[in-house]
Amino acid sequence: MANLTDLQFDQQHIWHPYTSMTQPLPTFKVKRAQGVMIELEDGRQLIDGMSSWWCAIHGYNHPELNQAVTDQLQQMSHIMFGGLTHDPAIQLAKLLLKITPPSLDKIFFADSGSVAVEVALKMAVQYWASLHQPNKTNFVTPRSGYHGDTWNAMSVCDPVTGMHQIFGSSLPNRIFVPAPQIGFDQAWNSADIAELEKTLIEQHENIAGLILEPIVQGAGGMRFYHPEYLRQAKLLCKQYNILLIFDEIATGFGRTGKLFAWEWAAVEPDIMCIGKGLTGGYMTLSATLTTQKVANTISQGEAGVFMHGPTFMANPLACAVAVKSTELLLSQDWQANIRRIETQLKFHLLALSSLEHVKDVRILGAIGVVELTFNVDMKMLQQEFVRRGIWIRPFGKLVYVMPPYIISEHELKILLEQMVEVVKNMEQPA
Ligand code: PMP
Repeated sequence: MANLTDLQFDQQHIWHPYTSMTQPLPTFKVKRAQGVMIELEDGRQLIDGMSSWWCAIHGYNHPELNQAVTDQLQQMSHIMFGGLTHDPAIQLAKLLLKITPPSLDKIFFADSGSVAVEVALKMAVQYWASLHQPNKTNFVTPRSGYHGDTWNAMSVCDPVTGMHQIFGSSLPNRIFVPAPQIGFDQAWNSADIAELEKTLIEQHENIAGLILEPIVQGAGGMRFYHPEYLRQAKLLCKQYNILLIFDEIATGFGRTGKLFAWEWAAVEPDIMCIGKGLTGGYMTLSATLTTQKVANTISQGEAGVFMHGPTFMANPLACAVAVKSTELLLSQDWQANIRRIETQLKFHLLALSSLEHVKDVRILGAIGVVELTFNVDMKMLQQEFVRRGIWIRPFGKLVYVMPPYIISEHELKILLEQMVEVVKNMEQPA
């Protein structure tokens, strides 16, 4: 080990997300990040197009967020949440309950998006168990969804595009319906919801909940669908006694142009998961919110309590920075800012749709997606983007950006011009 460079050590010993240990993709060592810029160890500066996977909405090294962490550090960095509570958690809960669907009244803090999803699924099962309906344990979900990497979260990801195909029959067997096909801006057609209705008619006695990502299906395909799908899904859930679970872990905190994506349809779920942008990308924290009805039913059931309690639940450092990040967002005209980014994304990216190797270009809020007709060579593309001074991480057939909201018009112009050049120059693999 002695003579390895740090990068060699990294390649040989440290597992990166979705990466081989024998043929790892190259990694780039980051020295620091400031605002929208990522500085590599060799001094190269990259304009960030990814917000560290939806999280760093205010950019990096933000003085107010830094201060919030520093202030909290002087008080306590962590304290167990069993039997104890603290101001950061209380303040954050007050804030979040104000800006999420009005019918959500109880909040459970967890430590990552996947765990928030586990918590949501457990809530749904415990709810029905408390109502003496022990058969209602399964979940229905549209294809092309993505909900995380833990066991039950994986089970409700798309079995093919959700990246967990390899686990096959070891996962609980969920009920999949076709992904919504009608795009966000297209004319609604009730055929889009027909399979869901048929499934609920046939299997509702065994279904605890319908889980989906409202409006934007993220890592399962970066697809945007029609708000009417959510309205219809809500009616069906009511009719067939199914809890509606929204996973807003990616869509939350303004990314789609609404503070949360449920607002596009004005449909309130029974349970909602949030994470990612919650702390402005500073620390891992998530929350699962639910209604008084669900919470009371669980609490009056046989167990009498909700059966979950992670060690780092409501970590004070994470809660303190989440309060500051959310206040910071709400203190600005963030809607106008997202519209500004959206307009610029459209200006630069829409023209790509005329290329033969581009299947589709779609933009919503501060998300810009170029879908190609073939899978990209991630290694080659990643290096090319870095060479051009931008940070974009494509996957599958998708080259997409979701930059920090603080990106300036000039920085976004450079990011998108470089991205467009790379996409234009791409050739279909032989
Ligand atoms: N749900 C959605 C919609 C997500 O996009 C993700 C993360 N990509 C998760 C859940 C899982 O979150 P985490 O990676 O924090 O566990």
